[in-house]
Amino acid sequence: AKKNPNEPEFLQAVKEVAETVIPFIEQNKKYQNQMLLERMVEPERVIIFRVTWIDDAGKTQVNRGYRIQMNSAIGPYKGGIRFHPSVNLSILKFLAFEQTFKNSLTTLPMGGGKGGSDFDPKGKSDIEIMRFCQSFMTELAKHIGADTDVPAGDIGVGGREVGYMFGQYKRLRNEFTGVLTGKGISFGGSLIRPEATGYGNVYFAQSMLNTKGDSFKGKIVTVSGSGNVAQYAAEKATELGGIVVTLSDSSGFIYDADGIDAEKLAHVMHIKNEQRARISEYVKKYPNAKFVEGKRPWEVKCAIALPCATQNELNEEEAKTLIANGCICVSEGANMPSTSEAVEAFLKAKILFAPGKASNAGGVATSGLEMSQNSLRLSWTAEEVDERLKAIMANIHESCVKYGSDANGYVDYVKGANVAGFVKVADAMLGQGVV
Ligand code: NDP
Repeated sequence: AKKNPNEPEFLQAVKEVAETVIPFIEQNKKYQNQMLLERMVEPERVIIFRVTWIDDAGKTQVNRGYRIQMNSAIGPYKGGIRFHPSVNLSILKFLAFEQTFKNSLTTLPMGGGKGGSDFDPKGKSDIEIMRFCQSFMTELAKHIGADTDVPAGDIGVGGREVGYMFGQYKRLRNEFTGVLTGKGISFGGSLIRPEATGYGNVYFAQSMLNTKGDSFKGKIVTVSGSGNVAQYAAEKATELGGIVVTLSDSSGFIYDADGIDAEKLAHVMHIKNEQRARISEYVKKYPNAKFVEGKRPWEVKCAIALPCATQNELNEEEAKTLIANGCICVSEGANMPSTSEAVEAFLKAKILFAPGKASNAGGVATSGLEMSQNSLRLSWTAEEVDERLKAIMANIHESCVKYGSDANGYVDYVKGANVAGFVKVADAMLGQGVV
């Protein structure tokens, strides 16, 4: 904490990992006296740079760009790029730290990284987005590469932005390589990548429910967010028989008691991805639904909750409301959406709770599959990628059960994910000496 003042999110993420990994280190001689966790919390490299661009009014704008190269013990740095006005060093370090453990859990050879900018894409024209992405990549290109660091999308960065950044990288380097993932299908993208995080989260929740002989069928599901992860989590939950009744954005949430079925979800995708408008537009077409301004959906009674918007969007009080309302399963699609106190409440109530680094790893896993396809100069079918994604999520679930089960059979997925993620990275670091 002394070394990293003003970094509350980073300290929160480290504390959560330390609480479960330190007791494990204390029981395992091999990992002692090597300063492994101390090394893991120190980024291998942090790059901060100026991004200048010209807006449509001809005015010069200045933003700050970042890339955190956290850990390369098991593969090239890998992690998304976030464009959001809240982006700062603390948030990106927390995300890069989590990413290292998450990538390890996928079993694919990817190290941890994260990047972004405090640029706000809301209300910007398409050409402004392109100018910004090109300027951002002009500096970032010096620090990344298919075998060095492979960024992807995150909040505010979808297929459009990845495409603009890829185009600029190719122009600068005169190289067509798999330097970014989440690319368009016509230039090296993988089928199922857009769906992967949301689908993967639901596959993980399904594995958790299976341990209780339960499933999504007929269950009320609340989802927060309405971006990439939320949309596909809602789609898969519905496909498996769940009734998704909420979605949200930073202005509030919509509640549709009849369920947001495939047709309604297609309209949500139109609102968010094409019109780039607010989720409140939903009630104009479906007046039976209501829009609750300025609130999050956790007050709605549900059996399964899928937080898919952003960090710290579910606090202790909201966790207690969910539990009191009979929620049996919380599976995080976003990164660290539950506060530490909320996580504690879920574990204390012994409900099924999956931390994002396990349950949302399907996105980066499929990015890893995109990297493999790019290296092979091949593309796999949607079915093939989806099968691999399912197998990876089942495998992550198994690792969590292996390291997180207590004597009574309760699975602490937080502990399971942290310890399983730690072991692989720690073994690789030990094997490579003091670097
Ligand atoms: P998008 O930009 O597509 O969507 C983000 C959603 O979250 C939007 O509905 C947005 O609302 C809402 N949101 C963002 N910031 C805030 C905030 N400060 N307060 C309230 N709502 C907010 O991003 P993704 O769906 O890609 O990412 C969502 C989460 O999932 C993030 O935590 C991300 O790190 C995580 N994740 C994403 C992966 C991916 O593959 N995309 C992989 C693994 C994790 P609004 O439109 O109003 O801003």
